[in-house]
Amino acid sequence: MKRSGERIPVAISSCLVGQPVRYDGKDKKDNAILSEFAPFFRWISICPEVEIGMGIPREPIQLVQIEGEVRLRGVETEHDWTARMHSYAEARAAWLAKIGVAGYVLKSGSPSCGLQTVPLYEAEHEANDSVALGRRDGLFAEVMRKTLPDLPLREETDLASHAERLAFLEAVREYGGRF
Ligand code: SF4
Repeated sequence: MKRSGERIPVAISSCLVGQPVRYDGKDKKDNAILSEFAPFFRWISICPEVEIGMGIPREPIQLVQIEGEVRLRGVETEHDWTARMHSYAEARAAWLAKIGVAGYVLKSGSPSCGLQTVPLYEAEHEANDSVALGRRDGLFAEVMRKTLPDLPLREETDLASHAERLAFLEAVREYGGRF
């Protein structure tokens, strides 16, 4: 990949840069993504669950459909984080647009960060993959997609090959315009 000028602001799930922010206090560092994009991107790492005050470690959460609405809830306590995550995500999206973010790398499968990979459960059959109603965006990612519809979004699993990473870099440059 050829470098051109200043580094581009790109958001990324904090666990992918190696921060131990997951519910179990671990990370999901992705060395291939970090090393290949290092000359080009200025990472803005964001952990929505920590930033809304869930703490580390924390109870796992999941997406549950209740009376036609998708809710973000604790698996055991059923504590409902939906409204808090929504308002936080809207504010974060506005801030990212303001600072000129040009792409976002998100953690696959996360009820907050995932893109079309997150199981949605029926309330009566929670935490059982066999009765998942389907897969959808995580709650935070959904707001990003709606608020910034043209922003290049990828899960880390979409960037497993050099060709996929190159295509993402091109999409980010095109979105960013000035890079
Ligand atoms: S997937 Fe998102 S919410 Fe979960 S630990 Fe990583 S950054 Fe935080």
